[in-house]
Amino acid sequence: MIRLTELRLPLDHPPEALRAAVLARLGVPDAALREVQVFRRGYDARNPRAIMLVYTLDLEVAEEAALLARHREDPRIGPAPDTRYRFVARAPEGVRRPIVIGAGPCGLLAALVLAQMGFRPLILERGKVVRERTKDTWALWRRGVLTEESNVQFGEGGAGTFSDGKLYSGIKDPRFYGRKVLTEFVKAGAPEEILYLSKPHIGTFRLVSMVESIREQIESLGGEYRFGARVEDLLIETDAEGTRHVRGVVLAGGEVLEADQVVLAIGHSARDSFAMLRDRGVFLEPKPFSLGVRIEHPQSLIDRVRFGPNAGNKALGAADYKLVHHCSNGRSVYSFCMCPGGRVVAATSEAGRVVTNGMSQYSRAEFNANAGMVVGISPEDYPGDVLAGVEFQRRWESLAYAAGGGGYRAPAQLVGDFLAGRPSTALGDVEPSYKPGVTPTDLARCLPDFAVAAMREALPAFAQQIPGFARADAVMTGVETRTSSPLRIRRGFDFQSVNTRGLYPAGEGAGYAGGILSAGVDGIRVAEAVALSATSQPIPR
Ligand code: FAD
Repeated sequence: MIRLTELRLPLDHPPEALRAAVLARLGVPDAALREVQVFRRGYDARNPRAIMLVYTLDLEVAEEAALLARHREDPRIGPAPDTRYRFVARAPEGVRRPIVIGAGPCGLLAALVLAQMGFRPLILERGKVVRERTKDTWALWRRGVLTEESNVQFGEGGAGTFSDGKLYSGIKDPRFYGRKVLTEFVKAGAPEEILYLSKPHIGTFRLVSMVESIREQIESLGGEYRFGARVEDLLIETDAEGTRHVRGVVLAGGEVLEADQVVLAIGHSARDSFAMLRDRGVFLEPKPFSLGVRIEHPQSLIDRVRFGPNAGNKALGAADYKLVHHCSNGRSVYSFCMCPGGRVVAATSEAGRVVTNGMSQYSRAEFNANAGMVVGISPEDYPGDVLAGVEFQRRWESLAYAAGGGGYRAPAQLVGDFLAGRPSTALGDVEPSYKPGVTPTDLARCLPDFAVAAMREALPAFAQQIPGFARADAVMTGVETRTSSPLRIRRGFDFQSVNTRGLYPAGEGAGYAGGILSAGVDGIRVAEAVALSATSQPIPR
């Protein structure tokens, strides 16, 4: 196979134009081109009037070596890399089963790969099976009733289950683990297009059934799930040399489960678990994260600006955006987790707090575009112990609950009012999508001053890139605090905690991923580290 990159064709090209363009580019007759596979398809919309589709193709050709030699000066033609996944080990007979804490994308991929290697992992998830969890999540959105152990953050599928299901990431991935994640998702029911679209997404409903299908596969391979199984403590033993080893976990209710290898994929909202880890002496360190609000505009505005006369073209879908502004106060404001044609959702896991996030369905057909508009912060903003970042988040989430007037209504403000420094008293044409509802108010009541100042500076700058972005009736809803983990559970090159052997911090909560795809990739890496350690093989550096 050879790989041809950067093949550009007009947006509405007929299907046969692809083959013709390949033949022209390679300079070969039709008979020499045996197969064309689309590896990636993106688009270049810098000129909205002349949007181009940009292909990366894998091609089966006659006389491949000669063709490669002929094009050796062309950086866009070369041998296709081998992206197949290869297992690093097989579980030895009688090996003790590893425990995976958390059934989010990281824990699920770790458990799946361990199960595929024969390790029969035990998955402990504090929340409920995904269908039950869906009911609890909707109870918050529809009726303002929060279940603290079963919500947008906790339960089978993890934090991204009720999401836009964006499946791309900017991580370095030389071993193509992202491809393994996507391939497993397709096996579990995701559309095949996620394998080749440059910005694939699957929306909420498909994620629910995919998570169930992954469970069936893990169980069929000898893995086991326990739901409502909140890990409240770790058993840690110190050997004669003073090295700490994990020996098992303790569940809420006191049940002890022994294990020598424990994958800790608990996500960024397991604040009680972070406190337990600190109390047990597991090495944690604070890390930067971001906070701010969700901002909503009509999706038609974003489509028009980004795609011009091509807005609405099926090959493009609903338009997204990515914005960043570096402010005079030294802060950076950027768009986060943009959800085209979606809605803003209540994403708290704690009573008396309001947290926003965004989701969409596969069709991305809802009226509004939403995105986090967040400000980068660092541990200097919340001095104190390693959990000071958590307390900082809690403070603004509680203030947001109060500013929303209770019942999990969220505080909201029109951009025009926010820029003018006056509270909103009514809404305009943009109807906020957050449920159970918003209260027009002054968002400065529940955001740090520096964040307010930074966002006031950023909005006009964003409007230069997307005219209309700072329109007076765009709605800001707060607060967006769970952008990433406020701490890192530091691990060494062997993926084990730097001071507790056998404990494998993983995924977003441990500070090693941000988003569904990267969390899944991290799960695979950690599963491999567990398998290599269990079979006494070195970890490749
Ligand atoms: P999580 O998904 O948070 O999973 C952790 C799991 O551990 C949870 O199920 C939790 O219940 C469980 N757990 C925690 N503590 C314990 C304990 N003590 N005992 C037992 N179980 C425990 N990312 C994208 O890439 N694309 C998107 O479109 C996107 N949209 C999002 C929309 C929303 C509303 C939210 C909330 C997040 C979104 N994200 C999105 C982010 C993405 O969901 C996370 O990055 C990802 O889920 C992190 O995966 P994880 O497995 O590391 O942690």
